[in-house]
This record gives sequence, C-alpha cells and structure tokens, in this order.
Amino acid sequence: SSESEDNDVVVIGGGPGGYVAAIKAAQLGLKTTCIEKRGTLGGTCLNVGCIPSKALLHSSHMYHEAKHSFAGHGVKFPSVEVDLPAMMSQKDKAVANLTRGIEGLFKKNKVNYVKGYGKFISPTEISVDTPEGGSTIVKGKNIIIATGSDVKSLPGVTIDEKKIVSSTGALVLSEIPKKLIVIGAGYIGLEMGSVWCRLGSEVTVVEFAPDIVPTMDAEIRKQFQRALEKQKMKFMLKTKVVGVDTSGEGVKLTLEPAAGGGQSTLEADVVLVSAGRVPFTTGLGLDKIGVDTDKAGRITVNNLFSTSVPGVYAIGDVIPGPMLAHKAEEDGVACVEIIAGKEGHVDYDMVPGVVYTHPEVASVGKTEEQVKALGVEYRVGKFPFMANSRAKAIDDAEGLVKILAEKETDKILGVHIMSPNAGELIHEAVLALQYGASSEDIARTCHAHPTMSEALKEAAMATYDKPIHM
Ligand code: FAD
Repeated sequence: SSESEDNDVVVIGGGPGGYVAAIKAAQLGLKTTCIEKRGTLGGTCLNVGCIPSKALLHSSHMYHEAKHSFAGHGVKFPSVEVDLPAMMSQKDKAVANLTRGIEGLFKKNKVNYVKGYGKFISPTEISVDTPEGGSTIVKGKNIIIATGSDVKSLPGVTIDEKKIVSSTGALVLSEIPKKLIVIGAGYIGLEMGSVWCRLGSEVTVVEFAPDIVPTMDAEIRKQFQRALEKQKMKFMLKTKVVGVDTSGEGVKLTLEPAAGGGQSTLEADVVLVSAGRVPFTTGLGLDKIGVDTDKAGRITVNNLFSTSVPGVYAIGDVIPGPMLAHKAEEDGVACVEIIAGKEGHVDYDMVPGVVYTHPEVASVGKTEEQVKALGVEYRVGKFPFMANSRAKAIDDAEGLVKILAEKETDKILGVHIMSPNAGELIHEAVLALQYGASSEDIARTCHAHPTMSEALKEAAMATYDKPIHM
C-alpha cells in the first residue's frame, strides 16, 4: 500500500529529536508524518535511557536514604528492604505513561504516526516495513533523519544482556548482583553503577582513561570521584580489559594497565559495558541516496541541519554534538523552523550537561582547562555547600559551585555545580550564559533564602569580589 498524500515533513525516528521535530512541524502548519520502528514513541531517552534511569536513581536513592540517613533525622524503621520487582514496575509504569503521552500529543497536534522500519527509496520516498509484515511508502517534500544512537560495543566483549549487559540490560536486572563491574566511567556508567551500588552491589568501575567523565572540569571531577568513593564505589583508572571469561557462574575479566604491564583478574556476577554510544543508521539506505557520514558514522550536516542531499535533514544523536536528549530536542525545533522558512539555530556551547548521581554534577559553558587553553585571562569564584544554610539544614552539603568569568569584562564563561539537585540549579547559569551575563549580574539578583541557589549567588560574588558567608 502507499500513503497517497505527500507530507511536508517526514521524520524518521520518534525519539526526543524526532518526536519534538514532528510536533513542532505540525504546530507550524506543516503536514507531518513520524516513522518509528520501536513500537513506542520516545526513543532511547524514554524507553531505555533518561527516564527509566532517573526512575531507578530516585528509587534507589530513597532506599539508601532510608537505610543510612533517616535515623539521623529522627525517622526510624524496624528494618528497610528492597522490593526489586516493585521498584522495576514503578519505573515501567512511568515509562509507559510517558510514551503513551507522546502518542496523545501526536493525535492532539495531528502528526501522522507510522509504525515500522523506514528505508530511503529516494530523497523524497521512504519505504516502511510495518510490524504486520507488509510495507508502505511514505512520501515527503522534506525528510528529517532522527534515528539516534545505539550502545557502543567493545571488541572481544559480547553483550548477552544477562551476565554482560549494556545500559538497557542494567535497567532490568532481575536480581541485585553481589558484584558489578562497570566498564567505562562516563555518566551512564556512573549513574547505573550508583543505582546498583545503593541497592547493595559491590561496584568497581574500570576505565581506560586516567579520569572519570573526561568532559568535566578537573577540580569538580576530583571532588565528584571522592564523593562516589565515599559511597563505596571503587575505581580502576588507566586500566584496560583484555580478556573476558563467561564459562563459570559469573564473569571473569582480565585487566592490564592502559600503558601495558602485568595482568590481573577481576570477577563479578554482572558486567555493564558503558563505553559510549554510536550513531544508528543501520538499514536506512543512506548510501542509496548519497547522504554523507563522517569517520565516526555520524551524518554530516551544515548549520541548517541539511545533509549532503537537498531536502534531507538530520538531527539529534545521529549528527555531531553532545549526545543528549535536550540537545536533540533543540535540534528538532530549529530544523523544522528552518524548513518552515524561519530562523533556527542551536548553540552547542550553551547545552548544559548533568550527571544524575548523588550529589549531581551539572555544568554549562567552559571548564577551567578549556578557558586556560583559550589563553583568556579569567577569574574563578567558588562557594561550598558546607556554607549554604539550606544544605546544612537538610544535612546534605557535599559539593560546591564554581564560576569562571573573563577577567576584563566579568562575562561568565562557565559554571559547574556539584550538589543535590544541581541539575535544577544549573538553569539560572544557562540563562545567564545565554544572555551574556556577568558574574555581578547573578550576584546582584535577589535569591530566595534559604535555598541551594544562594550558593550560586555567593559563588558569583566570589568571582569579582567577596562572598558574604565564607
Ligand atoms: P533516539 O532517542 O535514539 O531515538 C531514535 C529513534 O529512532 C529510536 O526510537 C529508534 O527506534 C528509531 N529508529 C532508528 N532507525 C529507524 C528507522 N530506520 N526507522 C524507524 N525508526 C528508526 N540524555 C539526557 O539528556 N539526559 C539523560 O539523563 C540521559 N540519560 C541516558 C541514560 C541512558 C542509559 C542512555 C542510554 C542514554 C541517556 N541519554 C540521556 C541520552 C539520550 O537518550 C539521547 O541523547 C537521546 O535519546 C537522543 O535522541 P534522538 O532522538 O536523537 O535519538
């Protein structure tokens, strides 16, 4: 069969990039179809990424607090235990509600939703293999590729999603592993490691690089690693995995220093491979229509999200830039605004990054290392949460705010926060950066008391002058 009417926009992929692009396109009056193969909308983020991981991070944090902190606040239980199936089912419910919610938004905005695997026949025609086994042709004047990313595998490490899992398997473990090894100290590994560590697993993170989360400001990173170590997470940095043995009950890894040298072994019940993500374009037929990709397999686009083929655009994880849901969403809106003949632009330097551990780490703009490399003269203002009244009142005061501003103009260059809820606190800084604010602008803005946000104000004061409470 064939969808007879032409669309103005066809979006391939229903993740945060694709579904947001589709809704925005329809809102701009464009006839829009979104093709998604998964069976549910929301992509990696809603189904196996941001949302289920945050659900488990919250549940496991509640358990950990109940076990270790409640008594100190005068709240006592005879005993606290984990009901893992109940925890998993609350996560599944959240995911199901949200993915169905997007279907509702599609209906409300009159986005046509086609379930199935999309492949290019020509730059304006997509053949969709439907779940029922048939196929249909969807035509569009403009096509947006939003096919996202997939787990990156490690050579010699076969993911079976049971003993050796990806982040997807780590979200659905049926038992709490006694020992868990996480390969890769990026944010996904640390978040999933935190979940299982809080629930009682002995977690060891093995990382090839000398540092965890390489994109993080080094000073913040050091404190962050210490915070995780206090929670009993172990780190083996500058270490590579050279062998995997799954013949026994668990998994035995053979390790070697990154620089070479004597081998050692490490055993666990479950190994999580979180060595990054790769763009996903399998079966899409990019070659057929001549869409260019780079060495990493990402679709190359110009500053208007246009690929090498006119009328074919790409957004989100499948193109260069931070592989984050909110970046994919911004891409989606800007791309359809451009298609609709409006202005559309995303500044990747203004995309905040958050690690949702406890404490959280959130940042926007440049790290101190990046500012130094630019050769800009700068000032640093810092304020520890130990001196913040709200953090002390709730006895959760680990962390700090660090602001970097240009010395001559006081213009903010980067803001880094480690604290509970840092992911919420950062947006004041994102707005400040977006508007080219100075640290004094933040310092002279009235902040409610007592709030964690006051730490940002004080760090801003410390950037060009002195804080009050330190
Ligand atoms: P995706 O979300 O990957 O969506 C692409 C969709 O396209 C998929 O549903 C796929 O089925 C579909 N598709 C692919 N090919 C075809 C085809 N040929 N035909 C039809 N459909 C197709 N980001 C954050 O910002 N915050 C977080 O807290 C966060 N946590 C994460 C935790 C984990 C465990 C993981 C794995 C990722 C996390 N991310 C997070 C990253 C985030 O999920 C991605 O950046 C985001 O989903 C990218 O959106 P996208 O729309 O580009 O692609």
